[in-house]
Amino acid sequence: MPAFICTACGTQYPDSAQAPSQCRICEEERQYVPEAGQGWTTLEALAKSHVNQFREYEPGVTGIGAGFAIGQRALLLQTPGGNILWDCVATLNDATVSAIKAKGGLKAIAISHPHFYTAMGEWARAFDCPIHLHAADKDWIVNPSPAVQLWDGETHRLWDGVTLIRCGGHFEGGTVLHWQDEKQPRGVIGAGDILSVTTDRKWLSFMRSYPNFIPLSAREVGGIDAALAPFAFDKIYGHYFDRVIARDAKHVFERSVARYIAAINGVRGY
Ligand SMILES: [Zn+2]
Repeated sequence: MPAFICTACGTQYPDSAQAPSQCRICEEERQYVPEAGQGWTTLEALAKSHVNQFREYEPGVTGIGAGFAIGQRALLLQTPGGNILWDCVATLNDATVSAIKAKGGLKAIAISHPHFYTAMGEWARAFDCPIHLHAADKDWIVNPSPAVQLWDGETHRLWDGVTLIRCGGHFEGGTVLHWQDEKQPRGVIGAGDILSVTTDRKWLSFMRSYPNFIPLSAREVGGIDAALAPFAFDKIYGHYFDRVIARDAKHVFERSVARYIAAINGVRGY
């Protein structure tokens, strides 16, 4: 039986003879059902229709994605403690598995929020590794995998230099990844769209729903600010190939929080 994948958000559902009647993720206010209606595909069909692109941003940081569904790309982070896939995409094929195995495979997968859970169980099976998800979002796991390890609380250290940080906001368990060690001495954030690198790539913004334009409150964005306050970082990798803040990212973050809170309070000229 096929495991159907939603063509709008990339979420894979459990094996079923018939496609599900609807996608739980897309029916909710943070996503949408396209005008043409609910569509479904499978991993096998995607392997014929989509080719993953690999973009090496710097040694040890490689973007992987095919522009499918929401269009995010995942990041392969080759840290001294092991390789991690940060965020996930539904397009997993043999060539992708081979290319990642040639770089040492995966020690872990961690995902920022449910829109990027996609086909995470297939990735975990291919690389025989755990998937780290924040427990606050567990009700959005529509295709349970034995590889899922839920974590609770505000931070979760994967190994030396790699920490998951719960920011909340877009989702209650919204998570970013912080990597800082001898290979990344100034610190890097994998942000997903928990911190969203804006289209001009000069700022960050923060939303409950991007497609439906529902903002977060000042209190929620203040919570994101507090969650990241203890961490140093100089670069932020957003969720699309071109969304990177390549330097001075801590100041960009701080300025962006201030701009957001001013804007939502109706203050201009910040
Ligand atoms: Zn969907």
